[in-house]
Amino acid sequence: MVTFSAGSAGAAETPIPRPLPNQAELEALTARFAPVEIRVELAALPAHERQALTRLIQASKLIDGIYLRQVSPSNTSIMLDLTQDESPLGKARLHYFVLNKGPWSELDKDRPFLPNVGARSPAANFYPIDAQREEVDRWIRSLTDKQRTDATGFFTTIRRTPDGKLTAVPYSIEYQGELQEASRLLSEAAALTSQPTLKSFLDKRAKAFLSNDYFESDIAWMELNASIEPTIGPYEVYEDEWFNYKAAFESFIAVVDSKETEKLARFGKELQGLEDKLPIEARFRKKIGGLSPIRVVNLVYSAGDGYHGIQSAAFNLPNDERVVAAKGSKRVMLHNFQQAKFASVLMPLAKLTLSPSDQALVSFDSFFTHILMHELMHGLGPQTILVGDRETTVRQELKELNGLLEESKADISGLWALQQLMDKGVLDKKQEASMYVTFLASAFRTLRFGLNEAHAKGMAMQLNYLMDHGAVVRNSDGTFRVNVAKAKTATAGLTHDLMTIQAHGDYAAAAALVKRAVVIRPEIQEALDRTKAVAIDIEPRFVTAEELVRQ
Ligand code: ZN
Repeated sequence: MVTFSAGSAGAAETPIPRPLPNQAELEALTARFAPVEIRVELAALPAHERQALTRLIQASKLIDGIYLRQVSPSNTSIMLDLTQDESPLGKARLHYFVLNKGPWSELDKDRPFLPNVGARSPAANFYPIDAQREEVDRWIRSLTDKQRTDATGFFTTIRRTPDGKLTAVPYSIEYQGELQEASRLLSEAAALTSQPTLKSFLDKRAKAFLSNDYFESDIAWMELNASIEPTIGPYEVYEDEWFNYKAAFESFIAVVDSKETEKLARFGKELQGLEDKLPIEARFRKKIGGLSPIRVVNLVYSAGDGYHGIQSAAFNLPNDERVVAAKGSKRVMLHNFQQAKFASVLMPLAKLTLSPSDQALVSFDSFFTHILMHELMHGLGPQTILVGDRETTVRQELKELNGLLEESKADISGLWALQQLMDKGVLDKKQEASMYVTFLASAFRTLRFGLNEAHAKGMAMQLNYLMDHGAVVRNSDGTFRVNVAKAKTATAGLTHDLMTIQAHGDYAAAAALVKRAVVIRPEIQEALDRTKAVAIDIEPRFVTAEELVRQ
């Protein structure tokens, strides 16, 4: 599943029909995405591996075409018309169309920005354009088990037969032209690479594009251990807002970041030691199990569902329960995308919200190291628990509040854990102040979009706790600073409070905490109001990828 690193925009008010944006307004909408040139150092890759990488970028361009069609049946012709429009308005429209992969502005609740396109369909282009949800639902319920498996599967569209009945069409037929070509490119890449697990994944995925059976290739993706880390195929189901059945095509072509991967391995060795020291009652600590694999990569190219609107900085795949049961899932973190977001969004925010001395301490290394630790801390602390003598899970007991508490736990205990590693000498203690201050800057980034998702709610709760304990202080000019000594105690204190609620599976205590602490206080809002002109996200331009393809 996708992680929204910058939060989803907008609250849930009903949309008001507005006139179409003119050229100036389109340019302003576009400017919310700061253009960033994505260059990746490939000197360590032998020539034949670079050639394999090039084939994968070429295949990704085909994936982009499939995704465009999956979003809407008219997307391809709209795009064609726009590319022929040489007027400044036409160019502004094309630019924003490419960013949104359609004529609807994602950051503005899918407001249409082109004439005569109507509202975005929640069925996307996975179901017949003239069908109603009820008709499809009724049809699915009328099917035999085998037919229903196909109809509700990830990898079919639903179409009408000539006599008007509904039928499931495999992606290998629906997107036959593009997938045959993509399959050929993946086979060529498989022949070029000398890395066995990469060759295996590419061969199997090339076959899957033709056979429509993705199981073996998903397993091979979980077993990837190579310098090139490709994710290419049909994955996320969010685009199908009717049923969340149908997978959208996406592509993330990346190379492994060896320095960050090494850091991750170093942290991995410390996890049991951290669990044994958690600031909770000893009986709540446990033996930690096998953790899901994490890959830290630098993205060379992304396409399809992997490139539109707010850019993903990390993802968890696959979604197929059969693969997850057999192999678990893998988290892929895009190091260079985090870096681009840090430079384009987080640093400018820090300049507007932190005192000058604290601004100087904000660093990308502190930012990314905390993100790594956040991921690892999801594996520590209470998960399977006893309530009375009943064995249950934190997730079951905390219900809809679980996500909020779990994300806050990973954030704040991530800071606690990094402090422990600094005290132990595993990390450089000189980074101490930078770690807390960078976290404060990233809190403002998360809170910009308002309290409509778990990360933002959790961040409001953490920030209020840190302020109440003197760890975050407001200056007379309305900026903020960190008191490092108090931050150390406060992070341990909040880690204790959250993990203790989790250990008891105490829904009432969680609800009380949320009610009290999930608010944006006026002094925080005042600081956020100063940040309106800062970019919301990035518009990546893949310079290295385009150079590879041209060669
Ligand atoms: Zn998390």
